Amino acid sequence: MTRYGDTRKSLREESLAPKKQLGQNFLVNKATADAVANCGRISKDDIIIEVGVGLGALTQPIAEQAKEVIGLEIDRGLVRFHNEKDDLPANVTLLHQDILKADFAELYRKSQAKLKIMANLPYSISNPFLFTLIENREKMDWATIMLQKEVADRLTASPNTKQYGIPTVLLKSCATIQSLLTLKPAEFHPRPKIDSVVVRIEFQDPKAEATENYDWPLFQKIVRAAFSQRRKTLLNTLSSVNFFSDLVEGDKKAGKQLTKEAINQAGIKEGLRAEVLHLDQFIDLTRSFSAKLS
Ligand code: SAM
Repeated sequence: MTRYGDTRKSLREESLAPKKQLGQNFLVNKATADAVANCGRISKDDIIIEVGVGLGALTQPIAEQAKEVIGLEIDRGLVRFHNEKDDLPANVTLLHQDILKADFAELYRKSQAKLKIMANLPYSISNPFLFTLIENREKMDWATIMLQKEVADRLTASPNTKQYGIPTVLLKSCATIQSLLTLKPAEFHPRPKIDSVVVRIEFQDPKAEATENYDWPLFQKIVRAAFSQRRKTLLNTLSSVNFFSDLVEGDKKAGKQLTKEAINQAGIKEGLRAEVLHLDQFIDLTRSFSAKLS
């Protein structure tokens, strides 16, 4: 099968109609696939995990640059197709696997290093995939992924914008993010309705995070609670979770008072909304809540 150009015809001949529910928008230009692969800054010693091999449009240039590629594909029909045709480069191992159910410790063992992930990501899984990366941040080196523009914009958003939210703050706490390339719908078959953006997410050394010395699970809980109702004040969103319920034996009023004190002790006014806070202020809030809870 030709990977580029006449993708539509090839798919029809192989009875592999693109599946919308699996976000199958295949790259159709070799030069574009090369440009996306180049965003990975892959070296000859790298073992790359590719999520969503599809017809192999991106797999090909990645395999040319890397030592090995471990390709994951959820669509059994596509996996069978590649196995029958034996058309992927020799240094590619194809696994029938849902990335959202993948064992990252196992992928880490297979990679023999921190994970380097490339993907033209199915739009339907972009948010859960990003949260999976955040969960597994200590096993991550970098991820270079194509996302719908709207999601990419959220990752690089600044406070006081409507794009700024939970993924922005959580990802910023453990990684640096760069937008590298914008792709128009005509680069894909079938064409999506919106532009796509390739972003590079470089994870920090968790040791650096440890020296920051704050309780990451609590930080995550605070960020999620603070953004749960964007129009409400920090006092209302954070006290509705009742972080201090054990300390006040379920007394909501007392819990709200402790929440107010914890917010103020972080140097923040309780009437503010989550969307105005910078990452450092969320970290200050976490330290202040920790101090009260300990
Ligand atoms: N890499 C190919 C390309 O660039 O042309 C295909 C990209 S297409 C946007 C996304 C691919 O991810 C599809 O092949 C789809 O079947 C696969 N996919 C969808 N959900 C997945 C999941 N949860 N885990 C692994 N692969 C998935």
